[in-house]
Amino acid sequence: MNGHDYIDGRLYAEQVSLEQLAAEVGTPFFCYSAGAIRQAYTAYADALSGLDATIHYALKANSNQAIIRTLASLGAGADVVSAGEMQRARAAGIAADHIVFSGVGKTDAEIVAALDEGIDQFNVESEAELRRLIELANARGANPNIALRINPNVDAETHEKITTGRQENKFGIDLARVSELFEMATAAGQPPIGLAVHIGSQLTNLAPFEVAFRQVADLTATLRDQGHRIERLDLGGGLGIPYTDGPSPDLRDYAAIVRKTVGDLGCELMFEPGRFLVGRAGTLVTRVIYVKPGADRHFVIVDAAMNDLIRPTLYDAWHDIVPVRRNGAAQQITADVVGPICESGDTFATGRQLPEAHKGDLIAFTCTGAYGAVMASTYNSRPLAPEVLVDGDRHAVVRRRQTIEELLAQDAIPDWLN
Ligand SMILES: *Cc1c(COP(=O)(O)O)cnc(C)c1O
Repeated sequence: MNGHDYIDGRLYAEQVSLEQLAAEVGTPFFCYSAGAIRQAYTAYADALSGLDATIHYALKANSNQAIIRTLASLGAGADVVSAGEMQRARAAGIAADHIVFSGVGKTDAEIVAALDEGIDQFNVESEAELRRLIELANARGANPNIALRINPNVDAETHEKITTGRQENKFGIDLARVSELFEMATAAGQPPIGLAVHIGSQLTNLAPFEVAFRQVADLTATLRDQGHRIERLDLGGGLGIPYTDGPSPDLRDYAAIVRKTVGDLGCELMFEPGRFLVGRAGTLVTRVIYVKPGADRHFVIVDAAMNDLIRPTLYDAWHDIVPVRRNGAAQQITADVVGPICESGDTFATGRQLPEAHKGDLIAFTCTGAYGAVMASTYNSRPLAPEVLVDGDRHAVVRRRQTIEELLAQDAIPDWLN
């Protein structure tokens, strides 16, 4: 189970017992398997072997510096979407020339910071951004690598909140305008060097990738005919993972689509996986606070909440829920697993079949390595949960639990209220 497995009925992350970690750091906490991350990265890189390809880890999936460092040491660069992420990538040891800057709303300050840092590439998402980047770059005598992110208007067939490649989404530039923007940028002394595309996240059907990559290939031919140099194609991330038992998209099929559509264009190919590299490697461990029996269902109230893991309520996401200590004699119950926050949306699962749970039991939400801790908030004045990285028999707290004192210290009461 992705770096997590039972040994003598107890759930372990690699060789480290989650019960022991819970005793050490308290609950709730996130635990990541470095081995599972390395395995995912290696599989991704192997599938692309033979292609002129680089992998830029999309930091937004999990930007803990220990995770970034783990991937950087395997050769990954970074795809960042803010100045904060750029600084995290740098702090974790990723060279500036391995950083790509994506995102629809780069501010002047962020563009300037990235130009000064000397990052490798800007993926530009609108005419206005392109004009601003050119102005700021020209003013500094800089010549950044620019790729235009296109909006291929394809349906990624994923949850509506994580689809990004349709015309009604805010991302990317209309296909029909790309050629004109190449002309404009070239005339302004900053000819773009490539195209980028990213159509959404958690894609489990590969067909939309093929449609999008084919459009990239067609557009590459058109732009070349018009005399533009297309040296790089950034194909984004988005490859889905199995959140429960069931088929998962096959990496080799994905790579075959890449080869078939854009493999022969003589371009450097760039990939920006996030979830695929880290999603399966994480668990969120939580303790049962109360069990409330009901007429047709039980409520299992745990000490993790939507502020720790928002995916179920934000995306209707499914996470498997497993006991940390297996009990072969436990009865199956039907339960809603909920957190303590005063929102009905603070629900991790409804009508879920589970082994009977009792106050004090530890349970784990699986596949929470991506878009888990990074999306956490302190709603209800709940401090951010700690993160632990396990590698073999070693473990380290890679983010300690925030204290309530730290949380309160961020507020200031104005003089006039004293
Ligand atoms: C979010 C994002 C990614 C990563 O998506 P995953 O589904 O986690 O692989 C890559 N590129 C861009 C531009 C993104 O916004």
